[in-house]
Amino acid sequence: MNNYEQKKMTTRALKILAGDHFFRELFISSKIFQDFLRPAANRYIVGENHFELFEKLKKLECIGYNTGIEFAGEEASSISEINTVVNEYINLIDNIEEGAYIKPQLGFDLSNLGSGISKELAILNCEKICEKAIKKDISIIISMERSKWTDIILDIFFILRKKFSNLGITLQAQLNRTSDDLADVIKTGCKIRLVKGVYDESENISLPRGEILDKRYLTLLRNIADNNNIFSYATQDPKLVEMIREEGIHKKGEHEMLHGVKPELIKSSRELLTIKPRISCVYGYNWYLHFMHRLAEHPENIYQAFIDIHLNNKNSELYNHQY
Ligand SMILES: Cc1cc2nc3c(=O)[nH]c(=O)nc-3n(C[C@H](O)[C@H](O)[C@H](O)COP(=O)(O)OP(=O)(O)OC[C@H]3O[C@@H](n4cnc5c(N)ncnc54)[C@H](O)[C@@H]3O)c2cc1C
Repeated sequence: MNNYEQKKMTTRALKILAGDHFFRELFISSKIFQDFLRPAANRYIVGENHFELFEKLKKLECIGYNTGIEFAGEEASSISEINTVVNEYINLIDNIEEGAYIKPQLGFDLSNLGSGISKELAILNCEKICEKAIKKDISIIISMERSKWTDIILDIFFILRKKFSNLGITLQAQLNRTSDDLADVIKTGCKIRLVKGVYDESENISLPRGEILDKRYLTLLRNIADNNNIFSYATQDPKLVEMIREEGIHKKGEHEMLHGVKPELIKSSRELLTIKPRISCVYGYNWYLHFMHRLAEHPENIYQAFIDIHLNNKNSELYNHQY
């Protein structure tokens, strides 16, 4: 087995582990398990409460970044979990300074707002958040989830976009359907965040990582930029970022990355002095899935995780200097 195949298998195994119910339950119920992983997760999770979150946002904004916020957690299945998420976002918006010069962008998964229970519930909850946010001129970006949810996520987006000019959507280049979806999304004039896609999808509906996917990503991005939509290229891939820069697309849209992943790459985007890049900051106590996905998308991060655990890093402040 060559290196590429080994990496692919490790990524696959980590994604299965990330989705495994036993470990997700164990994480929620065991403080020992949480404490063990926390020093490694602190690289990616900016804090577990609003105080830690806003401290971090301020620091990043001061050195020249736009910011994004996402409350950690995915695929909430009970009404009480869903209500917790909705209330969290409502409180978050309340806590964002009214007259702040830089406003963070909020992002979330619709499955956390109830799309797994019913479309109507997710619409109602998303509407509550958008209404509150638009009054403070805060933009919202909906994440894209597993392909079984794509239709419902787009349906909800199209319905709500008619009412909310602050609403944008994420699209996944890996899905074969995305170029068709993009044509409809572009017409709404919304902000589009283009990602490769984090979920393990079957070959008949998606492309695996590789040159063909990178080419498709660039074609989609060119299309978005040519249509004058506001957009972000949310990728942590230095080669792809290089290609985007070579074509000059970076002068039209923002580079967006997750906190803790390759800080030197987003720093290089900031130093180009074109469009201010955005660091998406995940916070909250339910960070197991977010953390596992970061390991899965780049299995070499496991070594770093062990080092972080060994050094027992206490919080994400340690990484400020890298930005
Ligand atoms: C802001 C943001 C929002 C996102 N929202 C969504 C979403 O809504 N739905 C969704 O499906 N996915 C989302 N993703 C994840 C995305 O789809 C990819 O899985 C993720 O960005 C990794 O793909 P890539 O383009 O960065 O490069 P890949 O092709 O995965 O990797 C190429 C190279 O990039 C570098 N790299 C990538 N990830 C890492 C890492 N974690 N650590 C170190 N190096 C790394 C490595 O050098 C790697 O060899 C989001 C990503 C970002 C940055």
